[in-house]
Parts: sequence; structure tokens; C-alpha cells
Amino acid sequence: MLQIFDMSDPSRREAGIAAAAVALRRGDLVGLPTETVYGLAADARSDQAVTAIFAAKGRPRFNPLIVHIPSRAAAERLAAFPPDARKLADAFWPGPLTLVLPRKPAAGISDLATAGLDTIAIRVPAHPVARAVLVAADLPVAAPSANRSGHVSPTEAGHVVADLGDAVAVILDAGPTGIGLESTVVGFDRNRATLLRPGGLTRADIERVLRTPLAIPADDPDRPASPGMLAKHYAPAAAVRLDATDVRPNEALLAFGPSLPAGADRAIAIRNLSPSGDLAEAAANLFAALRDLDRVSGKIAVMPVPDEGLGEAINDRLRRAAEGR
Ligand code: AMP
Ligand code: MG
Repeated sequence: MLQIFDMSDPSRREAGIAAAAVALRRGDLVGLPTETVYGLAADARSDQAVTAIFAAKGRPRFNPLIVHIPSRAAAERLAAFPPDARKLADAFWPGPLTLVLPRKPAAGISDLATAGLDTIAIRVPAHPVARAVLVAADLPVAAPSANRSGHVSPTEAGHVVADLGDAVAVILDAGPTGIGLESTVVGFDRNRATLLRPGGLTRADIERVLRTPLAIPADDPDRPASPGMLAKHYAPAAAVRLDATDVRPNEALLAFGPSLPAGADRAIAIRNLSPSGDLAEAAANLFAALRDLDRVSGKIAVMPVPDEGLGEAINDRLRRAAEGR
């Protein structure tokens, strides 16, 4: 039986965290709020629990999971940190940054979670509910986004219920997530930091700390630097048309900024990511807006979003949404 806890209710909060911790220790799946998106959490040490994540999401087994831990100290037990990784962890943990690092052999993490790679993806989340659950459960938690593989990521508890309600034991509902995009994933070639996935922490923020540009992953189709970037991803069922400067018949409009394009008055529905043109607001609204428009129309026209700051990750997700058909 699925238990859903309203974490904004102070009288339910402790019970929710305890129920999530018990479920994780039992090997069950938990829908967990983080500051990026809702995660599908399980015990990262358990082959059985990790298998349940892949099965519930329909996620390809070659796509490794991010392991969530409460502190840098816990991360140091799982992975080796090159100097620049240490700098980034100091600057941005807890927060929306995932580091892919050489895995320590004695880490005790299921090989299924890391897809048999000799690296491991680690994050220390900032969300108070996620942190409380990690401390209460006292185990490393594998947690990809709590959506069916290939779908749009969940930014509200209702999205988790819709995609995975029959697979999870507990969902902690902490309202809409603050950032709304998945974490930025950074890998290392020796000490050279490489951007594997743009996300909720901007390139500019990372480069300011490193004082050097992030490297671009080597383009080797047989050995992708980040296996998950191969798959079609973030795709609504509707056809998505990017950089729209007009709205065509039967299209819904995903807008950005104060002025709407020609034909907007005939749009089947309109969601504006940020009427004032604020990229953080747009990121927070992106996935829920895509889900909404997907329900009302088979065609979505998307206005251009500037490619700066969080716009890099927003445009990455929009391109995948457009391609994934
Ligand atoms: P998700 O869990 O859906 O947020 O996706 C996690 C992302 O991190 C995917 O793009 C994975 O391919 C990537 N990732 C996880 N572990 C590794 C790893 N060991 N090496 C490279 N990329 C990884
Ligand atoms: Mg995902």
C-alpha cells in the first residue's frame, strides 16, 4: 500500500521521514523530494533494491544511478577525489551538483547502481527532507528522477504518483521542487573537469570556482562519457517544435518572456515559463508546463530561451524533448 505524507504538515513530518527510512532499509522504493526534482530512492548497497529502480522506471541497465549521501565525509568513503573535485564539493555541496569520480573498491555499492563502471556518480542533496531521510536511513541512496524512463522528470509529488504510484511504498510530498532541473553532472579525466550533463548548477558558477573552462566530453559513440545522455529523454508524447516565432493550428504554446509570438491567440493552451524572462523561474516551471501541455495537445510550439546561465540546461532538455520521438 502506497503511503503519501504531506511534509508541510508539522504533525506528519517526523512520521514521513521515519516511514521513508524504514521502507529504504527494507529494500522498498521511496519517492523523495530533492531541490532538483523528485527522486526514486532505494538502498544503493542492495542489488535487489537497485534492480527494483530499473524495473519500475523501465530504465536501461547500462545507465548508472546517482548515489546520494549526507556529507562529503560519506562521499570520501565511496570515491577518490581529484583536487578540482574537492574544490567543487567544497563550493557546491550540499546542492545540485553530481560528481562522477573513481570508485573505491570497498565502497559496498551495488555494481548494478554503477552499471559495472569503475566510476561512481555522487551527490549531497540540499533539500531538508532528503537530508533528513538520508540521516534517518543511514545508508547510501541510489535515486534517479522518479519518472518512467524517457518521460519528463517529476517536480511535484503528483507527477510521481502518475508515473510510479504502483511501484513505490512511500512518497514524501514537499510541494514543487525549487530548482526544477536535474543536477549538473561533472566528471574528471585525471584532474580535468568535464561537463557530462548541464543542470541546476550553471557552467559559469562552476568555472568561476575552477578558474578554467569545463572540458567537453570526448565524442566516442562506443564509450559515451555519460551513458544516460545516449537515451532519448525528457520527452512528452506531443511533437515539440523549438524556436517557434509563430503558433500554428492545433499547437499549444510553451512561452518565455513578456511578448508572445504571432498567432498566440489561437494556441490551444499557453504556459509561460517566466513572463518576466527569469531563467531560474523558467527552470522551476519547465517540466510541469511540459506535462500540462502534453495533456491538452499533440503539438507543442516552444519559444526560444536564451542559452545563458540556466538556459543551457533548459535548452538541453527542450532539444531532447523535441528529438525523443
Ligand atoms: P538520473 O539518475 O536520471 O538523474 O541520471 C544520472 C545521470 O548521471 C545520467 O546521465 C547517467 O548516465 C550519469 N551517470 C551516472 N553515473 C555515471 C558514471 N559512473 N559515469 C558517467 N555518467 C554517469
Ligand atoms: Mg532522469
